[in-house]
Amino acid sequence: MRFVTFRYQDQGTTSYGVVPAAGDGIVDLGARFGPDLGSVRQLLEAGAWQGEAVRDAAGSAAEVPLGGVELLPPVPNSRKIFAIGLNYDDHRAEGNRPKVDFPTVFTRFTDSQVGHGQPIIKPDVSDQVDYEGELAVVIGQGGHQIPEAAAMDHVAGYAAFNDVSVRDWQRHTTQFVPGKNFFHAGAFGPWLVTADELPEITAQELTTRVNGETVQHAPISDLLFPIPRLIAYISAFTPLSPGDVIATGTPGGVGFYRDPQLFLFPGDVVEVEISGIGTLRNLVAAEKDA
Ligand code: ZN
Repeated sequence: MRFVTFRYQDQGTTSYGVVPAAGDGIVDLGARFGPDLGSVRQLLEAGAWQGEAVRDAAGSAAEVPLGGVELLPPVPNSRKIFAIGLNYDDHRAEGNRPKVDFPTVFTRFTDSQVGHGQPIIKPDVSDQVDYEGELAVVIGQGGHQIPEAAAMDHVAGYAAFNDVSVRDWQRHTTQFVPGKNFFHAGAFGPWLVTADELPEITAQELTTRVNGETVQHAPISDLLFPIPRLIAYISAFTPLSPGDVIATGTPGGVGFYRDPQLFLFPGDVVEVEISGIGTLRNLVAAEKDA
């Protein structure tokens, strides 16, 4: 199943829903279930995402055309968003970084991401805005100190993620957080695809394109620290909750290490496609236009 969070373009109200198999529309679950199950996060918290009512909705005809809504991040209000640095060896090598024994973990705020089709904002203070195509893992069942062997049972599903990075601000000090958290400089979507549809997640492939040109391409099986290890490592220090996100890291080919360098500017279109999930597509906009 595919879950989306969206805003009605005509009314401006926000809801969430499931996308039936045809893929061109939405069944509005927010309207069906009411405020007690008013968001994807609440649906995950209640465990209702796997229930019969949701499956019935997913098997029925779409009520709202996808073209009539603005998609938001599939989980717009995660409690915690983690991102992993240096988790593909070609990306580690292009930056001349040493091999490491533990995952590099940093955090992103919820308002540093937009949804599929919303503009990524290039801040005026930097001309070093870079793409990072990534697989995002969304937690279904929360937990603390989750063992690796049980980790995949805690996954609700997956989405594409663009860990857009403002490189000069990322490199002001050893701490990444500023350069990874500019307002609306990142993307998450287009939807949350449940894990039952992707039992072989490591068999999928990630491709990033800028203005149609492929700039990153890698199999998910290249992750240095695989998904169960990331869940075990992170949940060893902090509890994970339904709707939390782990962006699993980016492969080689980022703009900063290219010769010549390739950065994002207003008017550019950046896409992150993951087989079995779909394509997250965003236009880059200047602050004054966004
Ligand atoms: Zn990243």
